[in-house]
Amino acid sequence: MPDRYLSFTGTAPGRFLTRRLGLPQPAPLKRWSPQRPALEGDWLLLTAGKSDLDLLAADPGLGLTASSEKPTAVVLDATGVRDVETLAEVHAALHPVVRSVAASGRIVVLGAPLDPADHHQAAVQQALEGFTRSLGKEIGLGRTVNLVRLTDARAAGSTLRFLLSPRSAYVSGQVIEVGAHDESVAPADPDRPLTDPDHPLTGRTALVTGAARGIGEAVAETLARDGARVVVLDVPQAEQDARRVADRLGGTALALDITAPDAGARIAAALPDGLDVLVHNAGITRDRRLVNMPAERWSSVLDVNLASVLRTTDALLASGAMRRGGRIVATASIAGLAGNAGQTNYGASKAGIAGLVRSLAPRALAEHGVTVNAVAPGFIETKMTAAVPLFIREAGRRMNSLAQGGLPVDVAETTAWLADPGSGSVNGQVVRVCGQSLLGA
Ligand code: NAD
Repeated sequence: MPDRYLSFTGTAPGRFLTRRLGLPQPAPLKRWSPQRPALEGDWLLLTAGKSDLDLLAADPGLGLTASSEKPTAVVLDATGVRDVETLAEVHAALHPVVRSVAASGRIVVLGAPLDPADHHQAAVQQALEGFTRSLGKEIGLGRTVNLVRLTDARAAGSTLRFLLSPRSAYVSGQVIEVGAHDESVAPADPDRPLTDPDHPLTGRTALVTGAARGIGEAVAETLARDGARVVVLDVPQAEQDARRVADRLGGTALALDITAPDAGARIAAALPDGLDVLVHNAGITRDRRLVNMPAERWSSVLDVNLASVLRTTDALLASGAMRRGGRIVATASIAGLAGNAGQTNYGASKAGIAGLVRSLAPRALAEHGVTVNAVAPGFIETKMTAAVPLFIREAGRRMNSLAQGGLPVDVAETTAWLADPGSGSVNGQVVRVCGQSLLGA
């Protein structure tokens, strides 16, 4: 279902009319393409407070400069902000440049973890969240604003490259924590060297559930673009579509209902060499208000969206089928984070994903060398959302800072960043891909 309002506001009369009427002004977002893989223009590095972070030395590949007339990306290092006086330097640094940031540009604020022994530091570092989210809501022109909390710049390379690229077009207003730099989470494996930054998943196997269509298909396609050998899993009824996707991507199809009690064992049997990336994408909705919801609608949604994720994750970790350095990415939803009328079953299942991720992530990393994260999509243009009644669909599309729906590829790009071997220090995160939706913001 094309977004006609977005097309209309791209014309001169459309711009004039919507501005006069005070209507939302969505800007066409610049997404990744082979022709334009990176943001074109200068990347500006600013600092507030006294920082110990050595971003330039840590990752010269980022191409940050110290001054620019019209930057396309701005990184503000605010890790050294410890009191309200130095917080003013955040204002002083960004106030003069914010207007000149290019359309579809990026602002990334770097913050420090909250110090439990210093409530002044904790107060102003928390203040950066309110600042970031507020700026994201007012900046417009398809520009995004995110906050990354980190202690060591070496651990944040893949995250900064993602957030400072067209790949993160629909990710805004997020707070992402990057843990300590740890060689063991991206081990230097002589059989699988990380030599090709454009294809970081080369030599790796990725399985995506529910990948015969929609978001899952886009995830499989993006992981294949990044070099992975993909396994396209879907229910037997969708086998033909799964095969079509797998053939196109040079991968294989696996016809399997993920709710089967032995699904984990069957995946492990189909992949004797093990699995590097597991994407739990399969999901269903069976909407009804709780007063009208029969038990079957409750249990089918909980089974596909949560119980099967728990079962297969447990089985693949316990059997050792998930290889060290592996990545698990599950799919939550903003409906799970914010709640949604008619979706008590779906909201419960997707909130459950966030709980699973937060609890399992540290243990999976310590015991198996595997990270566990989730993406939480907002309004994504798919067959599912095309079927939503017009006014609700329009509200879903416009009620976010970018005033438009996301595309399946936006969820896929976020998944690919979390699946990157260089993202070993990103663990236990639930990252919304929602254009900074007002729902549960
Ligand atoms: P979709 O309905 O288009 O695709 C889901 C796929 O999962 C289908 O191919 C389906 O056959 C498969 N599937 C369903 N049950 C399965 C099972 N038991 N075993 C194996 N495969 C199964 O949905 P989508 O819009 O692409 O959504 C993908 C994921 O993103 C879901 O988890 C959904 O809840 C989540 N999500 C979507 C949106 C959105 O706006 N579309 C928003 C938030 C979250």
